[in-house]
Parts: sequence; structure tokens; C-alpha cells
Amino acid sequence: MFLIFGFRTKPEALGWVGGPCRVCGQNGSRLLIREVTRFSLFFIPLIKVRTRYVVECHNPMCRSVDRISKSEAESLMRGGVRTA
Ligand SMILES: [Zn+2]
Repeated sequence: MFLIFGFRTKPEALGWVGGPCRVCGQNGSRLLIREVTRFSLFFIPLIKVRTRYVVECHNPMCRSVDRISKSEAESLMRGGVRTA
């Protein structure tokens, strides 16, 4: 018997967050993304092994990606996210 296993990271966009970008200073152009890495067995995701949060600036002149902590992400979400 052999096992097929691996890790898969899936980014999930949570929505747009307010506040200025740390790099370019533009307001409201940041997308909050949760990256969930799961351990999978036979291509079936089983166990969540890591969750990371990043904010991506969608100003075309900037495009910065900032890694943030879970508590920072939670406070951004409390501040309100726009999903449209
Ligand atoms: Zn920016």
C-alpha cells in the first residue's frame, strides 16, 4: 500500500479593508487574504496546518503584499470589510 499526501495552500479573499496602504498610502485599495495550508491525503484536504493573513495593495503602481498577524487581521475585520 502506498500513500499520496501533500500540502496545499489555498488563498481566500476575505474582502477589502479600509485604511491607507503602508507602502503607497492609498486608501481602500487593500484586499485582505487568508492563506490556509492543509495537509491532504489522497488529494482530500484533512488537517489545517497553517493559516496566514496578508493584505495585498491593488493600486497598480504599488502591488505590495504585507504579511500581517492573526490579531491584526481580526482587528481589520472588526473595522469592516467590503466584499464587493
Ligand atoms: Zn500600496
